[in-house]
Amino acid sequence: MPLRVVVLGAGFGGLECSTLLSEALGAQVALTVIDRNDSFSFGFSKLDVMFGRKTPEAVRIAYRTIANPGVQVRQEVVTAIDPVARRVTTDQGRYDADVLVIALGADYDQRATPGLVEGGNEFYSLAGAERLSSVLPTFSRGHAIVGITSTPFKCPPAPSEATLLLHDDLVRRGVRAACEISLVMPFGTPVPPSPVTSAALLAAFAERGITFVPNRLVRALDPARRVAILDDASELPYDLFLGVPKHCVPEVVAASGMTVDGWIPVDPRTLATRFPGVYAIGDVTSVGTPKAGVFAEGAARTVAAAIIADVQGGERPTAYRGVGTCYVEFGADRVGRVDVEFLAGPPTGSFTEPSAALVAEKEAFGSSRRARWFGEAAVTSGHA
Ligand SMILES: Cc1cc2nc3c(=O)[nH]c(=O)nc-3n(C[C@H](O)[C@H](O)[C@H](O)COP(=O)(O)OP(=O)(O)OC[C@H]3O[C@@H](n4cnc5c(N)ncnc54)[C@H](O)[C@@H]3O)c2cc1C
Repeated sequence: MPLRVVVLGAGFGGLECSTLLSEALGAQVALTVIDRNDSFSFGFSKLDVMFGRKTPEAVRIAYRTIANPGVQVRQEVVTAIDPVARRVTTDQGRYDADVLVIALGADYDQRATPGLVEGGNEFYSLAGAERLSSVLPTFSRGHAIVGITSTPFKCPPAPSEATLLLHDDLVRRGVRAACEISLVMPFGTPVPPSPVTSAALLAAFAERGITFVPNRLVRALDPARRVAILDDASELPYDLFLGVPKHCVPEVVAASGMTVDGWIPVDPRTLATRFPGVYAIGDVTSVGTPKAGVFAEGAARTVAAAIIADVQGGERPTAYRGVGTCYVEFGADRVGRVDVEFLAGPPTGSFTEPSAALVAEKEAFGSSRRARWFGEAAVTSGHA
């Protein structure tokens, strides 16, 4: 009987893991992937949607195009996980697994920040980015704040990217002189593991007159007075607030009893949880890397290699190192690149100057994943 592998979540981590297992094991594995959505979109697509560079339809890649042999993709909501029995319940049925891979990502708790829903906007969900695509064209005067409300949060460079792209948008519409932009960040620098990247971002902010407010979180908004209240009780007036909401594990993960301090702990070398036969990868864990797709993908490779070795009797994979490459939008149609490593010692990062060539490299990063996870049809049909 083939090994029953159930992968929960078809995001960056779940897609990479299931693709590798299907390629290597074919009929040796009975592979089920469960996701509540009918489509995937890259995290960075939210910036494209928010600034009107792409439509929401253009960035959604339908799961029905997945053509990997042996993979069953189910659009169902996971409602319970029993990590001891390796049993999963969904709104439509029950799945028993020999190996369970939890790749359910991070959800958002907007209500955790008083006033955010009533008086602000978030740009971290596709729905939030879509709403902003009609709000941003109406902003032409006053103070825009990009603010982080809690840690950890996905893709730490994304708020810096949002401020630089907002600057471009306001310049293009001829209203930049009537607007101020501030970025409120819980770190001393924009990308702490890479001082060179941080220096380049701070220089870009200074050139464009963007105010960087370090070491602060936004605790609340007071929509009546239109002020953001920071964690030292100081206040910043705003006319437009673009927030990064509090992140949390999906409810079903919290209810499973697998979390400690809000996230699933794993062995950072193997991504194994404390439950035999249960792995967790990506944003849902507290593995020690930032929450980003590239790290979810790297973790997925380590887990897939371990499962393949178990089935085929080959060598166990080397320890996961938390290595990743992130592309950073600098505005003015240029993208920079930061290469980081988190788990082999103290975090390190190197930086490649923004260029038009890296815009093409970022595009290739996306289309290569589309082709591998969804088949060539998803690329040629023009979905981003
Ligand atoms: C604005 C922005 C920009 C970003 N830019 C980048 C970037 O440039 N590079 C980068 O590497 N990362 C970037 N990211 C981060 C990246 O999108 C995430 O870190 C990545 O998607 C995490 O992968 P994951 O597999 O852990 O989770 P996800 O990709 O979030 O996948 C989790 C899946 O689980 C499903 N799910 C959750 N709960 C349930 C349930 N109960 N039942 C069924 N299904 C469920 C969800 O539908 C989802 O498909 C960005 C994020 C944002 C918000």
